[in-house]
Amino acid sequence: MKILVINAGSSSLKYQLMDPDSREVLAKGLCERIGIDGRLTHKIPAKDAKYEFEIPMPTHAEAIQSVLDALLSSEHGVIKSASEIDAVGHRVVHGGEKFASSVLIDAQVMAAIEECIPLAPLHNPANITGIRACEKVMPGVPMVAVFDTAFHQTMPPHSYIYALPYEYYENDKVRRYGFHGTSHRYVSARAAAMLGRPIEELKIITCHLGNGSSVAAVDHGKSVDTSMGFTPLAGLPMGTRSGDLDAGILEYLMGKHGYDMAAMMNILNKKSGVLGISGVSSDFRDLENAANDGNQRAKLALEAFQYGVKKLVGAYAAAMGGVDVIVFTAGVGENDANTRMAVASGLEFMGVKMDAQANNVRGKETVISAPDSRVKVLLIPTDEELMIAQDTAAIVKK
Ligand code: AMP
Repeated sequence: MKILVINAGSSSLKYQLMDPDSREVLAKGLCERIGIDGRLTHKIPAKDAKYEFEIPMPTHAEAIQSVLDALLSSEHGVIKSASEIDAVGHRVVHGGEKFASSVLIDAQVMAAIEECIPLAPLHNPANITGIRACEKVMPGVPMVAVFDTAFHQTMPPHSYIYALPYEYYENDKVRRYGFHGTSHRYVSARAAAMLGRPIEELKIITCHLGNGSSVAAVDHGKSVDTSMGFTPLAGLPMGTRSGDLDAGILEYLMGKHGYDMAAMMNILNKKSGVLGISGVSSDFRDLENAANDGNQRAKLALEAFQYGVKKLVGAYAAAMGGVDVIVFTAGVGENDANTRMAVASGLEFMGVKMDAQANNVRGKETVISAPDSRVKVLLIPTDEELMIAQDTAAIVKK
C-alpha cells in the first residue's frame, strides 16, 4: 500500500508518501509560502536526492497539485499513476471530545472537525484547508483524520478537569485535552515492542521533548494524564512557551505594563520558555554551548526545563502507582544526552539507574538504563508520519 501523509499548516504543507508495512518513505517534502508565492522542496530518501522548485501556490489546492506533479514526474517522481496512492492520512490537531481515535473522513467528520475550530483556531482551519485541497485534487481517494488529541481521550475526569466552575467544562468545553498524542502513542507502542511485552502489562512515562514538550502517563496502553492542557501552552517550559504558571501573573503584568491580552499571549507563546529565561535561544544546542561558556541564565533555563520533566516523571509514577518504562523522544529527547541524564539521575529511589555509556547516543532505538535498572529507560525516535500512515492503512483496509 502507498499512503500519502499530509500535515497542513496555514502557509505550509508537509507530505510523505510511504509504505506503512515496509515503513519505506518513497518521497517526502514541504510546500512553503502558500498564498504568498510558493516553494516546493521534494526529497527522495532512497536516492538521497533533494529538489527545489518555485511554483505559484495561491491556495493549498495548488500546493497539493504540485506535490502530486512531483510524485508523478518522470525525472524526480516515485509513482507512475496517481491511482497508486491508496489513501491520504491527514494530521488534525484538535478532535475535542468527539474523536478518541482516527476516522475515515466524510461530511459528518468534516463538520465535527469544523466544530472544534474554536478549540484550535490557528491549527484546525489549516488542517481543514489541507483536506479540502486533497478532495479537490484527488477526488474519490479515501482520506483519514488522525488527531493530536485522540490518544489522551482515555484520561479520567480527575485528570482532565480544571478547578473552575463546572459550567465552563459543560458549556465551553474547557478541560485538559493534551497534544502530541500520535507521538506518545507511537513511542509507547514501540517501547512495549522493544521489551517484548504486551503494552497492557506496562506503566510507561513518555517524554516528548522538542521545541514543544509534553510528558504523558500511559497506563496499560492508555493515556491517563499528560502535561499539555486546554492548549499546547501548558505544562513544561518549552522553546518559547511558558508552560504552567500562576494565572495571577497575567493580571499583574498586564496591569503593570499596560499589555492587552494579545500582547500577553504573544509573550507567553513566543518569548517565554527557555528562550525567555536564558535570553539566548530556544534551541537546546545553543543553550548548552552558552552554558558551557559560563552563561548562568542559559544554565538556569536548562535546569528549569530538566527539573520540570523530572517532577512530571515523579508525579506520573505516583499517578500510576509505579513505572516500568520511561521513554525519551523528539528533538531534545532523541539528541540531548545531558538532558536525559539530568532528568533520569537521582531517581534511583524509584528504581531508575542510568547507564552513562549507553546514554551517550543519538537518534536510535536503544536502552539507556543500566542492565540492573528495575525501570527500563528507552530512547525511541518518534515517527508521527508512520503512525498516521499505519492508522490510515488499517482504516481503509476495513
Ligand atoms: P522537535 O520540535 O522535536 O523537532 O525538536 C527540535 C529541538 O530539538 C530543537 O529546537 C533543539 O533544541 C533540539 N535539538 C536538536 N538536536 C539537538 C542536539 N543535538 N542537542 C540538543 N538539542 C537538540
